[in-house]
Amino acid sequence: MKKMFGNRRFKLIDVLLTTIIVFLAMTAILLVFFKGSSNNQLKSATSPSSDKDAVVVDKSDSKFEGIKIVTETSNDPLAKYAIQYPQSKNQDFNNKVVTYIRHAKKNYLEAIRDVKIEDNKRKSELNISFETHVDKKGNYSFVLMNNESLLGKKRLSEIESFHLNTKSGEQQDIQTVFKEDPSTLPEMTERVRKKIQHTEKLSDGVITDKMQIRTEPDWKNFENYAISEKSMIFYFESGSLKDEKSGPQVATIPIEEMNDLLKPEFQVASETPAKKEEAAKPDASKDKHAEGTADKDKPSKDETAKDDEQTGEGTAAPKTEEPHEKKIALTFDDGPDPKSTVQILDILKKYDAKATFFMLGSRVEYYPDTARAVKAAGHEIGNHSWNHPDLSKMPLPKALEEINRTTVIIQKVTGEKPTVFRPPYGAYTNQLSKQTIPPIKLWNVDTLDWKYRDANKLLEEVKKATKDRSTILMHDIHQSTADGLDGVMAYLQSQGYKFVTVSELDK
Ligand code: ZN
Repeated sequence: MKKMFGNRRFKLIDVLLTTIIVFLAMTAILLVFFKGSSNNQLKSATSPSSDKDAVVVDKSDSKFEGIKIVTETSNDPLAKYAIQYPQSKNQDFNNKVVTYIRHAKKNYLEAIRDVKIEDNKRKSELNISFETHVDKKGNYSFVLMNNESLLGKKRLSEIESFHLNTKSGEQQDIQTVFKEDPSTLPEMTERVRKKIQHTEKLSDGVITDKMQIRTEPDWKNFENYAISEKSMIFYFESGSLKDEKSGPQVATIPIEEMNDLLKPEFQVASETPAKKEEAAKPDASKDKHAEGTADKDKPSKDETAKDDEQTGEGTAAPKTEEPHEKKIALTFDDGPDPKSTVQILDILKKYDAKATFFMLGSRVEYYPDTARAVKAAGHEIGNHSWNHPDLSKMPLPKALEEINRTTVIIQKVTGEKPTVFRPPYGAYTNQLSKQTIPPIKLWNVDTLDWKYRDANKLLEEVKKATKDRSTILMHDIHQSTADGLDGVMAYLQSQGYKFVTVSELDK
């Protein structure tokens, strides 16, 4: 009996040991697997938690599957531009978009070169932004808004839509969405006209002759369109339905009102009239948003607070606390970016540094995971407008909408409102600064990283200008900035600086 009992216990230990060994082996395999799947430049010296964060960030590239948002900015005061456009996995689509962007950029830069006026007061600007709409089958419509001003005067306000059928890779022109029937076009035209006449916001101020000409039954008149889950949206550029000042106009029509004209794959199931009302509502807000991006181009009567204001910040008297601690605030603008921002987070962690990230609302919408990772790492998040326009050149309500929309998305994504605000190009009106917006924080050391795009040059610029209580401007959308940051951090640390957020610096 005793012997048998002993044997049984022995078996129990065997089972336990085997289980432990199997468990350990599986853990080891899992660890290797996770390490391999994280293609980040992670220093093995950093703590394991950074591994975990990086994996989370890597998983989703953008909120819109298969689509990236590309942001290009120039902070040259004589040739400002902020350009955003979508990039997909479809090369034909990308080529078409990039060709359009290149053309717009070239036109703008050439026009500036031609005028050659070193006039700081009347600045030029190119701003290309876009809206993203996804239909019920996951196909994309991207509506690009191209606004250009030369020496303070509006030169161009253009709308251009691009479409991507995610399955076939085709770029759906407007006529490919509708049934091939001679009556389709005139009937569709009639419905769009009726929508314009019977929607208060659209009919108010409409110039009938203009509208009749602009909506003649020709597919070309309707080529700027989008399809969302429930609506067809038609875009009309500034001055085409109303006067110039009214900005672009948008007609939103529930898809079911077009059902009989559409090819079967674009039709939606008919809903009850009660539901129909509801269906039309969400897009009314999109309508409003599109109008918000309208270039109303009323020159602001306020004095523009220029970039020079930043010098005020640098001359702040150093505090007389002892022992004196040297502090600087690193700031990163125009992100987040799923690759370079994540790399920057890693480097900051290595130096136990806290920084401030001034984010664009449009990019937070695309890369919520990256924005969350910045927050989770304990950095300060600032508002840098929705898509980087010169706020000093737009009417106050429009400038406020740029800021508020960004605050809303940052809060939605990270759980907290941005604590500081930095206007694009450091440009704002006195009127804007008196509004209830987060405190404005500029900078006093410009690394010019957006211009050089050179990892080695970053340290040079920092060495030249940095002193105690400096606020350093960098851009986390540039790979060169991420690549040059480690050198900058090593240098600043060797100089005895403590890295703090902009809010902490001003405490
Ligand atoms: Zn910026």
